[in-house]
Parts: sequence; C-alpha cells; structure tokens
Amino acid sequence: MDDNWLSKLDKTTVIVAPTRSLVTSLNERLARQHLADGRSVWEAPSILVWNDYLRALWQTNRKQLASTQGALSLISAQQSLLVWTQIIEQSRRDEQALTLLNVQQTARAVQRSWRLMHDWNVAPESIAQDHVADTEQFLVWLDDYQQKLQKRGLIDESMLVAALHQIDCDIPYSQMIWVSYDLITDAQKAHLEQAKIQGISVDYQRPTKSCRTQDFLQFPTVQNEILSALKTARHRLESSPDSHVSIVVPDLQHRQAAVEELARSVFYPDLSPLQVQQNSNIYRFSLGLTLHEWPAIETALSLLTLIKNRVSVTDLSYLLRNQFVGLCVMHREECRVFERWLKRQRFHQVMFDHLPDLYAQCKAALSVHQRPQADLLEAQLRDLVAQRQLIQGALAEKKQTLGYAALEFGAWTAEFSNWLRSWGWQTSTLDQTMNSVQYQLHQRWIALLEEFAGLATVQHRAGLSRALELIQQMARNTVFLPKSAASPIVISGVLEAVGHEVDLCIVTGMHQDYPPAPKADAFIPARLLADSGHPSGGTRNGSQHAFQVLDHLLECADERIVSFARSADQDSDIEMGPAARFRDAMFVAKAAPLSIEGDSPVAQSEVELEPFVDVQGLPWRAALSPKGGSRIFENQSQCAFKAYATHQLQCQSQDDAEFGLDNLDRGNVVHHLLDKLWAQLQTQRTLNQMPVDERARLVASLIEQVLENNELELNAEKLQLLRLETPRLLRLLVEWLALESARPEPFSVVEREQPRRGNIGGIAFDYIIDRVDLTDAGRSVIIDYKTGNVNRNDWLEDRLRSPQMPLYVLALDAEKEKQTSGIAFASVRQGDHKFVELSETGIFREAKKPQNDLQQKWQERRSVWPQLLTQLAADFLAGQASVNPIDEQVCNYCDLHAICRVSQLRIAAGKLLGDADD
Ligand code: SF4
Repeated sequence: MDDNWLSKLDKTTVIVAPTRSLVTSLNERLARQHLADGRSVWEAPSILVWNDYLRALWQTNRKQLASTQGALSLISAQQSLLVWTQIIEQSRRDEQALTLLNVQQTARAVQRSWRLMHDWNVAPESIAQDHVADTEQFLVWLDDYQQKLQKRGLIDESMLVAALHQIDCDIPYSQMIWVSYDLITDAQKAHLEQAKIQGISVDYQRPTKSCRTQDFLQFPTVQNEILSALKTARHRLESSPDSHVSIVVPDLQHRQAAVEELARSVFYPDLSPLQVQQNSNIYRFSLGLTLHEWPAIETALSLLTLIKNRVSVTDLSYLLRNQFVGLCVMHREECRVFERWLKRQRFHQVMFDHLPDLYAQCKAALSVHQRPQADLLEAQLRDLVAQRQLIQGALAEKKQTLGYAALEFGAWTAEFSNWLRSWGWQTSTLDQTMNSVQYQLHQRWIALLEEFAGLATVQHRAGLSRALELIQQMARNTVFLPKSAASPIVISGVLEAVGHEVDLCIVTGMHQDYPPAPKADAFIPARLLADSGHPSGGTRNGSQHAFQVLDHLLECADERIVSFARSADQDSDIEMGPAARFRDAMFVAKAAPLSIEGDSPVAQSEVELEPFVDVQGLPWRAALSPKGGSRIFENQSQCAFKAYATHQLQCQSQDDAEFGLDNLDRGNVVHHLLDKLWAQLQTQRTLNQMPVDERARLVASLIEQVLENNELELNAEKLQLLRLETPRLLRLLVEWLALESARPEPFSVVEREQPRRGNIGGIAFDYIIDRVDLTDAGRSVIIDYKTGNVNRNDWLEDRLRSPQMPLYVLALDAEKEKQTSGIAFASVRQGDHKFVELSETGIFREAKKPQNDLQQKWQERRSVWPQLLTQLAADFLAGQASVNPIDEQVCNYCDLHAICRVSQLRIAAGKLLGDADD
C-alpha cells in the first residue's frame, strides 16, 4: 500500500487491520507521509482492528439497538469472563461430577468457544448432535449465560455483529478497506454484505513487493539461528540506517524470554534486562508481556496480598528488597537488616499485623534502635497495620449488618489505590525520573483498576480473597505493549508480522514441523469448524492457511531470508529438514558464533585491544579485624572471589526458611544431644559399663528434657514435628554410642564446646571445637559432629575444601604447646555411622595396614598446613579475588554467580576455571 495514497484518505474511510501492531504501523506511516508533505494537521481515516470497529458501531447504533431490543449495556471481555466464571462456579457447586473442574481455565475455554460460534455461525443445535458429555455441559452453560445477560440487559462483543445485523445498522463510512486479511470470518462476511447493500465501497489490500533477493539458510541449533537473525538485522542497520527489518519467530510466545536475552546481548550487552525492558530500543517485540509479568505490576499485586494479613517470609523478603516500593527504598538499610533478621529466625510465615512488633524485636536484638530511621520505619509499619485493620474492620461491619463480608468493586479500587500509595509504590524506581514506558505502565495500571471497578456491571460486590483473585486474573489476561517511537527492527510472530512493509524480512523456524497441527477447540467439534473453512478444522485447512499467510508475509519485503535449525539444541538427536512449503529450496548451511564478538564493528576495526585481567581487590584495612572466623579460610581456599565478596564486600545471601524441620534443625538436635550425653558419661569406661537398655533410657530421658524445656528454642510447629521424630533420634543415638563404645583406645571427653580465639597469618578468629578427646595413652584428638556428607579428601589436597579442622589443629597446638594426634568427623547418619579421621593409628579403629598409610598422610599434611593456611590468610588480606572455584560443585552452593559471572568466564575459557588454576 502506497503511503502517498494512504495520506489521501479522509475520515469517511475506515481501514480494518488484523492486528494492533499493524494499526500502529499504518498510523505511523500515515503521520510520516503527512509530515513529509509539510502538513502539521490532517484529517485521517479511522484505522482500527475489528473489535474496535465493532465498538465504534455500537456507539453509533446504541439508541437504535435499545429501541428494538430494550436498554442494553455492552460488556467487555473481562466482564464477560466474570459472568462465565460465576456460571461455571455455580454448576460446580450444584453437580458433584464437576468438583474437579478448574473454573478459570474452563471459563476461558468456554468464552473462546462462544466467540468462535458467533464468528463462524456454528449453531448450538449442530453442536448438540454430538451427544458428548462436555458439549452437553457447554450447551447448558450457554443457556445460563444468555439468560443471565438477557435478564440484566447486557450484550457482549461476540453477540454484537448478529445484533447489528438485525437492525438497519448505520455504518458511518463511505469506504471500507480491509488490509492484509488472510481469513475473514462468516460474521465479518455477513457484515460486509450488509455494508455493500448500503452502498459502502469495500476494498481489500495487501502489500505485494517485488522480491530482490531471497536466501535460504540452515543452522545447527535454534540459538544459532536466532542469533544470526539478530546480528544480520544489526549489521543491516549499521550499513543502512533508514532500513526497516522484520524478524519473524513463529513460536515467539513460548520463547520470547530467550529471544529477548539474545537481543539484549546483541544490541545492549552493557544494560541489564530491566533497563532494556523499561526503555525505547532499536528493536521492539510485537507481542507484549501480560501485565503481571512486568516487575512493577507484580510488586503491586504482591503488596495487595498483604491486606490478607498472612504472608510468607519469602514474599515479604521480595517486597522489602523491592525497588518499586518507595517505603522500602527510603529505608533500604533498615529493611535489609530486618529481612535478614526475619530469615535468621527461620520463620516460614508471619502475620502482617505482627510486623511492627517483630521489627521492634529485631531492633533490640541488633542494637539498631538508636537510629531515627529505624524508629520511622517502625512507625510507618504501625500505620500500615492500622490501615489494613481498617479494611478488615469495614468487612467485619458489613458481615454484621448485611450478613456478608464484601465491598463494592469501586470501594475495593479506592482501598487498593490507597494501600499502594501508603507503600509508596510506583512503576519507576525512586532514584529515577519516570520515563515514557514507566508512565504508560502506570496509566495501564490505573486503567486496569477502572476496568476492575467496572466489574460492578456483572457482580455487585466481592470479598477480599475474591477481589484479589480477580485483579490478579485481570492482570494475567491483559497484554501490555508500550507505545514507542517507531523501532526499525520488529521481532514478532508470523501473524503479527503480516502486513508490515519492510526492507528485509527474516523468517526463522521454517523446519519440517511448521506449521504445527491446529489446536482443536474444547467444545466445538472439528467437523463443524472444517465445514466452515476454519483453519482449526483439520490439518489440511491449517497447513493451507499457514502457507497462504507465509506467502503473504514474504510479499511484504524486498529482501527475504528464510531459515530453519536442524535441531532444537546441541543435545538433541533429532535432525530436522525444511518446512514442506520450502521443500524445493536450496538451504545453505551456516554456523553462527554464539556471541556478538567476532564480527561486531569493534572487533573488525583496526584498534588493538588490550586485555585486562581483574583479580585483585582492595587489601584488608589493617585497623579492623576481619569477621567470619574459619569461614574466611574456607571461602578463600574454595574460591578467592567468594571470600572477597563475602567478607570484604559483605555480599551475603540468606537461606530461605523451610517449612517444618530442615537439615540445620536436625543437625543441631543431634549435636546438642551428643553434647548432653558426653556431659553425663565423661569417659568411654562409663559408657562401656552401661547395658544397652540403660543407654537407651538415658538417651530417651535427655530427648525428653530437650523437648520439655525447648532447649533449642524451636517454634511450636517444629517442636511438634521433633516430638514425632523421637523414636528415630533414640535409635540413631543408641547406635552411635555402640560405635563409640567399640573404639580401641579408651578415652575421656575432656572438652566440649569451649570458645577459643586463635590467630593464623594475621587473621584472628573465634572458634568452638565440638569436642576434644584424650586417650588413656595421652593422645588428644579433635572431633566435629556431622550429619551431612563428609569426605577425608577434603583435607588431603593442597587446595583444602574444608580447612576448618586443620585450622583448629594449628590454633590448639599453638595454645597448648603440645601436638594434637588427630582430627575426625563424627558422621552420625542412620545406617552409616563412622569416624572419618586423619590421625595417628589405633585411636578410632584397630591399627591395620591402611591405617598406617593414614598415619603417614596425617604427618605429611600436618607439616604443610601451617604454610598453606598462612598463605590463604596472606592472600585474603592482600585482597586477592580471582574467580577460581575448586570445581563446579562449589559454585552450585554459592549465590554469587551474578557478580562473579563464572558461567561467562567458563564459556570464554571453554573449560573449567579450576582446571586452568590447577
Ligand atoms: S559462583 Fe563459583 S566462581 Fe562465583 S564466587 Fe561462587 S564459588 Fe566463586
């Protein structure tokens, strides 16, 4: 369609386009042409999608419809969905057979089928002929829906064409142009006939560009294929800045996140995903995200759920760290402290009303009460609690006076807005001024709240849970695509790309499985759709339609690239061929590199780049003593960057609270009980004099004591679960005592849990040894209780995975001026009790040949540890911070990936960093 011709059209013309993105594009072209012709004001044709066109007709013909059918209100798709939901919920309550129904999904499926029936003139009587339980139920719901709408004087968008057909519909245009339509429904055809009878000229248009070049490419993987498309678009823009490029990804709705990430890496590698998302870019996606996928809206929805009072600590943490919540950004430091404190208490859930008191406890425990900011935060939390209780009070009052705890939708809208205002919620972060995308997002949220208030047309009021469920559901059903200055690169699915005239169109995903088999409708039999010519009516209809659309798509560009990937990813064994539509084309094999480097303009330039290796942080400030104890040595040994980030930069993650008893709780219980046991027994001799049943009685009484006095300060839920674990604990400890009893050299437990202070290589640290045993032969050994996996190899290599025990050996020897004879993990595990030791022979088991080898190793390692540990201390104090993990397993238990970027380094190095280090 020629832009010049487009600019000659006036308001007597309506252009109907199949997608909103094409409407936007046509409007942009129209404006460009008028401006190029020197006009600043012009009379424009209406450019609309079909639904908006129908709504325009509704406004014009409203009075006429009312005069023939009585007063009517047109309801939106969201309102219609709520009516379907009410009907399906009611039938689920009435019929036991429907108990397992997912109401929301079913309502959406029914709404889709209802629309299809109207678009393709499928009569309920035809559906009834099938006598299938699902379709029979569907027809019952249809009946209820129609009655409900009729009773309330409502009409929905699906019914509108038929209603307009029944009157002498006033179509306020003299010309109607259908642009890039490949599929016109029966309802649309009927309307066009009606328009023609009224003397309106109806025209059909579609772009038909002449093909200058057409390339066919094949790639090893989908990632290669998409990356190549993005890089081709980038190079095209760099060489010819006025170009327009369309990249088509047929299954974009399923892989948009991956494509977005690749696009960011190609065009904006230095920006974060959020920065890219919240700005206008050189490329845009024609598929928007649903509202609840936008982080700011997700935050608003999470804040609203706090009104229910009960909140999980995980959700609360998310909000306390959230950059869209003004209150938390203003009190960033206090919120961080509070969040960490909450997690340390290992709560799973808290009541929102208890937050101010919990924060007061946190302040007292952490001595932050002097800070005025902390007092301010506490006061603001109390205000929020008061506000929440007011809402609850209003609901309780309704319950008392009217018998139900529900508010009108308008009242909920006001409460939700006030609540978000009190939290200082906004769509931009506090340290930013609001940009266009954030402004549009805010406006869309306000519009959503208005739509929510509009639900009053179909339902008078709702309780809190229902209101929250509805607003969340509406946010999930609403796609938001910000308007932006026209981007020269558009990434879209097939249908959204059709009609966009561009210089270069890159169509990816043309493998043998394209097009996918059409999806059957949930309630309308395929045979009825096939009869009407709908693409979902069978594979043949579907393929024919898909190929027709493809031809149309290719005709929109002067230059065309069609590609497919031979496999979905590198691990896939399935080799793909081209789609049937391109079976005769010669596809040239290509292998695109996996990153933008290599052929970017920078890399191609003559400038010689200087490599820079950044492995050195700031040295430790001499006046302060590093905090972290033996952990500093462990982290430095496992990965220098981890030690630097954790102890110098204070990057600390918190474990999420787990429901019930977690491994840490179980370990603490066993540890505590063994400590109590040896406090009583003192020596192996006492233990050996005790018959097994007496040992069991002793263990049982100690468990009872621990539970009775809640010595581990567990919450009521955990305490209850621990009670249930009493028999397991009893068995575990009695079995463990049997192993202690069998040790060959008699011993006494001479120390338990004694706090000490040591110093290695200039790092002073506090430490507590679980237990020190002294054998009758005068040999002392250090014992550490473990309930998880342990491995002797952790002490045998020069890179110590677990330097804690070697550290204790050196510190204790220095203090006592007498050498320790060994170290051991006491591995207390059901069915696998053992000592994992490195020691002189004969202490933990009878001396045999392998034990002599261990003795040799003990002497060997004992002699090198002072130098190894001193070097670790020196490296730490010097700020040595290279990313050098011992192995990948260490990274699996570390949360610093985003900072150290080890995965990128691994890709760059093509191998484990640890290998290189070794
Ligand atoms: S993720 Fe691995 S490389 Fe990164 S800091 Fe942690 S241990 Fe080191």
